[in-house]
Amino acid sequence: MKIVFATNNNNKLREIREILGNKYEIVSLKDIGCDVDIPETSDTLEGNALIKAKYVYDNYHMNVFADDTGLEVEALNGAPGVYSARYAGGDGHDSDANMAKLLMKLGENNNRNARFRTVIALILNKEGSEKPEIHEFEGIVEGSILKEKSGNTGFGYDPLFVPKGYNESFAQLGEEIKNKISHRAIAVGKLSEFLK
Ligand code: IMP
Repeated sequence: MKIVFATNNNNKLREIREILGNKYEIVSLKDIGCDVDIPETSDTLEGNALIKAKYVYDNYHMNVFADDTGLEVEALNGAPGVYSARYAGGDGHDSDANMAKLLMKLGENNNRNARFRTVIALILNKEGSEKPEIHEFEGIVEGSILKEKSGNTGFGYDPLFVPKGYNESFAQLGEEIKNKISHRAIAVGKLSEFLK
């Protein structure tokens, strides 16, 4: 079954292809010739995931899922949350700047509790049905924020995030372990179960 993953983030594509195995042909926005940077204008992860999936479904009429992820830090009332990519301003995706801002905001605060939360929105048009179905899947991984960066694999806030039950950051644990326990792995696991 061919299904669009509404992203051009190669890290995520690799992660998700690894998790889903070869049961599905996962194609990216680039693969379907979509070079639009779909604006994420919602103030919730759920809203943004649905905006991206709907854009692809409405314009390309293909089965599609989209994800949105945020790092929710307890002592910062859930920030950076839906603004994780753009936390330090600018166009976003400057991970070093985002991590520096997070460390600055947390300072010496002893409450380092945080979680990654992923929401996946799936739009599926089953053969013979008039209306597409919309489904949502959530994945959460609890953990804590280090006082300084550690490790160099992964992306985003990985060098600062230690998942509960481990002593190393996602960036130290490496992709193989991360892909088994991550927020996205949990959400994709639910998606995969559903698709079966
Ligand atoms: P997105 O909405 O899934 O693109 O994620 C928003 C931002 O959250 C990204 O730009 C990253 O900074 C951060 N992020 C998402 N997933 C991860 C992850 O698995 N590890 C570390 N940071 C992540």
